[in-house]
Amino acid sequence: LPEIALAGRSNVGKSSFINKIIQRKALARTSSKPGKTQTLNFYKINDAYYFVDVPGYGYAKVSKKEREKWGKMMEEYFAERENLNMAVLIIDIRHDPTNDDVMMYDFLKHFDLPVTVIATKLDKIKRGQRAKHLQRIIQVLELEEEDTVIPFSAETGEGKDDAWKAIYAHLNN
Ligand code: GDP
Repeated sequence: LPEIALAGRSNVGKSSFINKIIQRKALARTSSKPGKTQTLNFYKINDAYYFVDVPGYGYAKVSKKEREKWGKMMEEYFAERENLNMAVLIIDIRHDPTNDDVMMYDFLKHFDLPVTVIATKLDKIKRGQRAKHLQRIIQVLELEEEDTVIPFSAETGEGKDDAWKAIYAHLNN
């Protein structure tokens, strides 16, 4: 089955995104405390594909050893998956992407994955500020031509259809 990797800094709203777009209130997830060994979680959706939940990155306090372990697991997964069609990167629309976000985007592009950026927490900014924030995201990530940014809110559900469209566009390739 095709796989879609989902990445995002911890606490950015990744599980809220998943829960909103697959219409489930609660998704089993292990707690992801800094320092704990983290694993990739696979969620089978409609017997049609997998969402692969990439453990949250951006822990400033994680030890070097833990970081190396994380990096190794990531390399192994991304280098070997033949069914991995695309990645979804969740970022917070309110702020410029962090260095960690940029690193994750570059990492995904390094494996030639099409990336759909979900700019979440859309409900937290004023309508008139949207274009400016989206532009900053494109600029800071140096978003490539084939990739898109989709404004999204797990609170209101706005952007849900666009997110699905982007996902389906790549699944059928
Ligand atoms: P994760 O660690 O990336 O999985 O983050 P969560 O999905 O647990 O979300 C972290 C916090 O942000 C929670 O308090 C959510 O309720 C909140 N949150 C997530 N998405 C949104 C959103 O679109 N709008 C608002 N207002 N809050 C959100």
